[in-house]
Amino acid sequence: MRIIDILNEKKVTLSFEVFPPKISTNYASVEGAAEAIAKLNPCFVSVTYGAGGGVSEYTINLSHEIRQKTGVEVLPHLTCISSSKEYVRQNLQALKEKGFENVFALRGDIPPEGRICYDYDHAIELIRDIREFDENICIGGACYPDGHPESANKNEDIDHIREKVEAGCSFLTSQLFFDNGVFYNYLYRLRVRGVMVPVMAGIMPITNMKQVKRTVAMSGTILPQRFLSLVDRFENDPAALEQAGIIYATDQIIDLIANDVNHIHVYTMNKPEVAKKILENLSAIIN
Ligand code: FAD
Repeated sequence: MRIIDILNEKKVTLSFEVFPPKISTNYASVEGAAEAIAKLNPCFVSVTYGAGGGVSEYTINLSHEIRQKTGVEVLPHLTCISSSKEYVRQNLQALKEKGFENVFALRGDIPPEGRICYDYDHAIELIRDIREFDENICIGGACYPDGHPESANKNEDIDHIREKVEAGCSFLTSQLFFDNGVFYNYLYRLRVRGVMVPVMAGIMPITNMKQVKRTVAMSGTILPQRFLSLVDRFENDPAALEQAGIIYATDQIIDLIANDVNHIHVYTMNKPEVAKKILENLSAIIN
């Protein structure tokens, strides 16, 4: 089923993101975790692609297996910064042959060691190629409540988001954020500048210190004082930090839904137990 149809049909949606392994020896354990997450019955599962600008051998396989074994709809990601047009076309063909109706189109981060291919500069070029390849496939794109780190300012960034939508993105999923006020302000600015498609709010439950440091470095998101206090207080108590992180994320989700932001995408970090606890916390709110 097309993700845009799921978003239009259901009042409130909760979906989960998983990531494939980097090396084949980890495939079985990642597959097990991804399937356990899908069995929790989210509206769909997204599967990331080659983080850090690399390509991924496993995204399509893992996406296919999750869909076959659980029946849950899957949104495979596809990046372009390290790919040739030919390679992208092969990926699109493979997705089509396996019956996928959705793809999340991204540029990918520019690899620190430099690019190996110059066919694509921005996600919009990938979106145009996907649309040309298949006019029915549902395309999602990324957006950034704090502004993308490479952007001169938020308005310029939003203008590029609008161009992605005009090129064929049916919905957007946001980068993670820990301050809902930042998201509400961003959503208002998107709407004022004419971006009217559904915007899924990206929520990451923080469950350990390594994740705190990595997440902040990679996303550049602003950490509110309330979140920093929690990290300060529980940084040496892993069980307490995990519990507090899950409750913080749950609280964000409840506030979003209370304010009519009805589509939530949770970055699960391949942890079924975390996804399960969030669902349990929301059992009467999302059903
Ligand atoms: P773009 O839309 O190309 O934007 C990148 C920058 O270029 C922005 O500053 C934008 O304002 C600017 N820009 C856009 N279009 C133009 C234009 N025409 N001219 C000039 N400037 C322009 N990375 C992965 O490697 N794999 C994943 O699976 C993955 N999943 C993600 C999922 C989500 C929900 C999000 C938010 C991010 C994800 N990323 C992933 C990270 C993403 O690849 C990086 O943030 C990357 O730096 C930007 O990708 P993009 O698609 O937003 O790029």
